Amino acid sequence: MVAPKEKNPAQKKPVESDRLKRAVSLATEKHKSQLRKSGEPYINHPLAVKKILEEWGMDEDTIIAGVLHDTVEDTDLTLEEIKTEFGDSVAFLVDGVTKISAARKNMKDLDSYLPATKDNFLRLMIALGSDIRVLIIKLADRLHNIRTLSALPPEKRIKIAKETLEVFAPLADRLNMGKLRVELADRAFAYVDPRRFEYLKNLIEKYNKSAEKTLSKIKKEVSETLKREKIDFEISGRVKSVYSLHKKLAKYNQNINEIYDLTALRIIVPDIVSCYLVLGLIHSLYTPMNGRIKDYISVPKQNGYQSLHTTVITPNKKIIEFQIRTKEMHEYAERGLAASFYYNEQKLTENYKQGKIQHLPTSLLWITELQDAAAKLRDGKKVDLKKLRLNLFADKIFVYTPKGDIIDLPKGSLPLDFAFRLHSEIGGHVVGVKINGKMSNLNHKLEQGDIVEILTSKNQTPKASWFDKIITSHARQKLNQLLRKES
Ligand code: MN
Repeated sequence: MVAPKEKNPAQKKPVESDRLKRAVSLATEKHKSQLRKSGEPYINHPLAVKKILEEWGMDEDTIIAGVLHDTVEDTDLTLEEIKTEFGDSVAFLVDGVTKISAARKNMKDLDSYLPATKDNFLRLMIALGSDIRVLIIKLADRLHNIRTLSALPPEKRIKIAKETLEVFAPLADRLNMGKLRVELADRAFAYVDPRRFEYLKNLIEKYNKSAEKTLSKIKKEVSETLKREKIDFEISGRVKSVYSLHKKLAKYNQNINEIYDLTALRIIVPDIVSCYLVLGLIHSLYTPMNGRIKDYISVPKQNGYQSLHTTVITPNKKIIEFQIRTKEMHEYAERGLAASFYYNEQKLTENYKQGKIQHLPTSLLWITELQDAAAKLRDGKKVDLKKLRLNLFADKIFVYTPKGDIIDLPKGSLPLDFAFRLHSEIGGHVVGVKINGKMSNLNHKLEQGDIVEILTSKNQTPKASWFDKIITSHARQKLNQLLRKES
């Protein structure tokens, strides 16, 4: 077995400095008379954010900024006072978090320093990206808000849950914060589509129950083999998250038989050589499925994720996925940027800027670009935003309703895909579309940042010919339902 992990200094119970204690008592004092929607004292929220940031191993400035993150917006505390008391860095972070809230309330607020683009989402990202720690505080803030979402009125719940699914969970994914992504997505999805959530949750449980026996048998077989080969390892089952199953089913026409990673076993070993060794041993025990061996160690995913994946068929025809990785890879897959941030990111980008190293991991490159762009824009310099590799969501575009709500769609989506995403009632009565204020047609491919207004008429009925003007399975499904209803 793997030797007990050396204590990550970031995870040690932090000794609270006087500075941090001062921040806590200041925030408590300032939020004193305020309550959360649940009726509990408001200060519970910033304190929960503090705890989350501590768990993520963030540096003290970030934790202090987390404690103070709502003071400038919601109390009479000023940025100047924060600067005097806690220094520039904390003030900068609090300002960043406050700006995001302002930007989200009114995207126009960004005009003063982001005149170069009309793309609201890009603007938001740049506002966020001015210091990556701002984004991490924002994610901690959102995590606590989604954990306590039930206290809000239903309409607000849905809105926040949708935004969490569409913006914050993908962001967590982009930072390779796997644990956070799963929690954000599953909690949000439970609000957005409670029936589907329950259904899939039960499905996963049932499936895992039926596979339990096979699984423990395989675990035993694999463990014995690895022990015989004197490989240090940890093996454990990993349960697929509800939301990722939901997304995968949509991709495979709801055919559960195409989902091969419902049950997975994770093997953690000390080094890369052992990863490949274990892969070979597993293939000598079970039949690997064709085309299902993925080497994310030599070719990491865009977010820096590394592992070997293989799907095998057991003698009694069960399909099981194995994920093999080192401890470091595992830590990074779970905690992502937050894990590597304090110790690596700063040092890495510093060395990179000074020319001491030639390449940054791709997972960090976009952050550097984002930070540089934000700094230039703040200094009033020009930035070619088109050249920015802001491929945060490579396969997605974000478009807006005239009211400014963000809707995410796959690249290449058409106006009807958008309409059905809003509501099938709207989708069924479409007569036309305005894109960025101009009349357009239903074959017009939507682009990142478009403002889309769907024109409807009560007299319009859904048409079978619309299938040609749809690319998402969601819209296809809704149109099908409407057409069946009609006939
Ligand atoms: Mn907050």
